[in-house]
Amino acid sequence: MSIQWFPGHMAKARRQVTEKLKLVDVVFELLDARLPISSRNPMMGEIVSQKPRVILLTKCDLADPKANKMWVEYFREQGVGVLEVDAKTGKGVNLIQSVTDKLLQPLFETRQRKGILTRRVRAMVLGIPNVGKSSLINRLAKRAATVTGDRPGVTKAQQWIKIGQNLELLDTPGILWPKFEDHGVGLRLALSGAIKEEILPIEEVAVHGISYLKERYATDLMTRYKLQDSALEQESYELLQEIGKKRGCIQRGGIVNTEKAAEIFLNDLQGGMIGRISFEYPGDEFFIEEQDVQR
Ligand code: GDP
Repeated sequence: MSIQWFPGHMAKARRQVTEKLKLVDVVFELLDARLPISSRNPMMGEIVSQKPRVILLTKCDLADPKANKMWVEYFREQGVGVLEVDAKTGKGVNLIQSVTDKLLQPLFETRQRKGILTRRVRAMVLGIPNVGKSSLINRLAKRAATVTGDRPGVTKAQQWIKIGQNLELLDTPGILWPKFEDHGVGLRLALSGAIKEEILPIEEVAVHGISYLKERYATDLMTRYKLQDSALEQESYELLQEIGKKRGCIQRGGIVNTEKAAEIFLNDLQGGMIGRISFEYPGDEFFIEEQDVQR
């Protein structure tokens, strides 16, 4: 279920995240590899503030490998730790510890100067709904025994999952809202499955998706639906009708049920059946440079 975010929800979410942040040394910021900008909470920088962050690009198995590589470079250039992960197969998950260790060198040095020798660090997972927080935590929990919290003064007992020699992860993630202000962002979130159709009309989402694929993934689109080259000349809505026809979404009187066609198309898209598709690339037009991760 997608969550409708209202100012009250946002304030509460922010409060809960702020509380959790007090318990950790580092944040694993989950962004959907297919749309790392739109799947990022607009206030992430402000909320997380000075805490070191490792960006985990989730669902990398669904995203275009070419775009994944570009995003990793993009974030690396900004000086943050970054990794592609796939919670389904576990790809990248075993590297989390070493990337975190590297990022936290300055913390270890400060500790050492103060005579604190422990290299133990605590982390939390943070991200918008559906980005893959629970899947990642479950995968990590499977590999390790859960350890119980031992910090006095914590009202609710916190469970920690030991994921490496010195790394412990809070077993409940921090949830932040996606940003809805921008229509394009909303459409991309809907295309990825992060927000459900109750928010945006499903046919509009599908038509937007078809237009995008025509531009960037035409071959994948044509192959999946066995379309002729000439189909690309058609309006995206007509293509949706064509897809509907091919998939038997015909109502009485021969009219194509475009709502059903949109459902089929989005299911295919979100399930990776059309191909490995990314909805955002560094340098895309929508891209706002000020959305610097360090902010
Ligand atoms: P949360 O709301 O952030 O906790 O997200 P979930 O962990 O519940 O994941 C949302 C959906 O994405 C679920 O259907 C997961 O099976 C799926 N999912 C999560 N991680 C991955 C991944 O790495 N690859 C793929 N293909 N699907 C994933």
